[in-house]
Amino acid sequence: MAARLNRSAADIVRFLLQQGEMVTATQSLSDDMIELFAAELGAEVRITEPGAEQEEELLRALEVDLADEGAQIRPAVVTVMGHVDHGKTLLLDRIRSSNVVEGEAGGITQHIGAYQTTRGDHRITFIDTPGHEAFTAMRARGAQATDVVVLVVAADDGVMPQTAEAIDHAQAADVPIIVAINKMDRPGADADRVRAQLAERGLVPESYGGEVITVPMSAMTGEGIDELLDQILLVAELEELTAPASGRAVGIVLEAHLDRGRGPVATVLVQRGTLRIGEPMVAGAAWGRVRAMTDDRGAPLSEAGPSMPVEVLGLGEVARSGDLFVVAPDEKTAGKVAETREHWQRQASLAGTAGGSGGGARLEDIFKQVQAGETATLNLVLKADVHGSLEAVTDSLRKLEREDVKLSFVSRGVGGINENDVQLAAASEATIIGFNVRPDRNARQTAETEDVEVRLYEIIYDLISDVQNAMVGLLEPEFEEIVVGEAQVRQVFRISGVGPVAGCVVEHGNVRSGAKVRFLRDGTIIWKGAISSLRHFQDDVAEVSAGMECGIGLSDFSDLKEGDVIETYTEREIARVA
Ligand code: GDP
Repeated sequence: MAARLNRSAADIVRFLLQQGEMVTATQSLSDDMIELFAAELGAEVRITEPGAEQEEELLRALEVDLADEGAQIRPAVVTVMGHVDHGKTLLLDRIRSSNVVEGEAGGITQHIGAYQTTRGDHRITFIDTPGHEAFTAMRARGAQATDVVVLVVAADDGVMPQTAEAIDHAQAADVPIIVAINKMDRPGADADRVRAQLAERGLVPESYGGEVITVPMSAMTGEGIDELLDQILLVAELEELTAPASGRAVGIVLEAHLDRGRGPVATVLVQRGTLRIGEPMVAGAAWGRVRAMTDDRGAPLSEAGPSMPVEVLGLGEVARSGDLFVVAPDEKTAGKVAETREHWQRQASLAGTAGGSGGGARLEDIFKQVQAGETATLNLVLKADVHGSLEAVTDSLRKLEREDVKLSFVSRGVGGINENDVQLAAASEATIIGFNVRPDRNARQTAETEDVEVRLYEIIYDLISDVQNAMVGLLEPEFEEIVVGEAQVRQVFRISGVGPVAGCVVEHGNVRSGAKVRFLRDGTIIWKGAISSLRHFQDDVAEVSAGMECGIGLSDFSDLKEGDVIETYTEREIARVA
């Protein structure tokens, strides 16, 4: 970088040191540091994802043919989602076992991450990891394996939080949803109530004049499963799912692990072309020659066509799920491509950037897109403390929409920002906006590793003006809050003359006397202020660190409850690069 900017490496090190960044001349720099230094010099830098352009080059080297010539109908690939305990696993097991031909190897099935079933003359591929986590994690890496989502809703329980999450994830990916209203055998099962709840969520069932197919069923008795499969076939037909079956195979790694006896094992989903034994393949940064292939019954295969999930042996390393795999023209190219990718991955991890795909229309970047004359869409995940404020913020944001800047709410909800929100934002290239709510620790960590922008507000005016300013390229310098510690209230003591004191355990970081705090209940901010007294046993102390107990007094605030969280923080101004 020094060479490109006609400076000495020492200049860079010195400048970054002044900014509080300790680096040496041989160390990799993060994107932020590079931008900081370039801004100082008035130089223009363009940060490209590690390998975004080069990746295209590699795919060219691999001579990947993505022409649709000779495309044929292929089986649909289905992911089952829904709230915990609503019956996803039982449904997947039922569909799988109903199809095991009597006497066939005693019905021994292997869980390789996906399986195929037949219905009449047709086949359907099911991804065997239920839930939206795997689905979204893959999408965050740029891979879309699923054609149809089956949303399982228990008829006696109705639409629950994870049902709503699953709907958001499927809709964000623009994948059609079929609703399986499960547990119809249960007393209290009420399919119509479920349909009404779905309609409220914008998934309007056919019986309500909408387009969403709902199938009442029971994974326990087996009732309705055939009907569900028929509906999947119907949707697949409407979607006109096709892929060429000839040519070198391209697809996605669904699962990968190291097997002691067999070495690296990967389950891949072929998306186009045909994969054959003996072919050289690259999967992300792993490569090798296909030594053996088996299907979900453990039966050996010599080739696998579109939508077929197969377990592959022969890669030299464990691939990552979500990686693209490609059959290479020859072994040499395969090795070279894998080596180049590994090099980038190492560089990216050294520089502390996440790598992979991502980025997209962050609040900070939206103006660049507008300037470039593109219609920009700002994707938002919006979380607020109560329903009223959620609606108010939504309405105000909607009013900001212009010809050239559209807003799209990937999801909106009430409550603290959780990991699911961050995953969804990462997969949809969205910015998270929190109003009177906070991210929990997992969400914060994931946001950091996935490089998701999280913006938190307590004043609606600030929120609106930030979004407005982002649209005209005028984002103000921002105060970044750094969370210093977190303590959980275990017990509340009422001490006369002192007021209530929260008996806490410091869960992480540290808590200092006088520190700024936010008082959180279920991820929602209910009070802000400072710590007025801090005690460890009988003694007044200045600081208490993780793992220790302490008594925290907060002036002017007495509504303390067990399970509440006290978060301490400091503020730092971060400069914005226009
Ligand atoms: P998952 O968490 O969504 O994968 O749910 P499971 O498949 O593990 O099912 C949760 C529980 O509900 C298990 O005890 C199942 O046996 C039961 N279950 C699933 N489907 C049905 C059904 O259609 N009827 C009844 N009565 N029980 C069911």
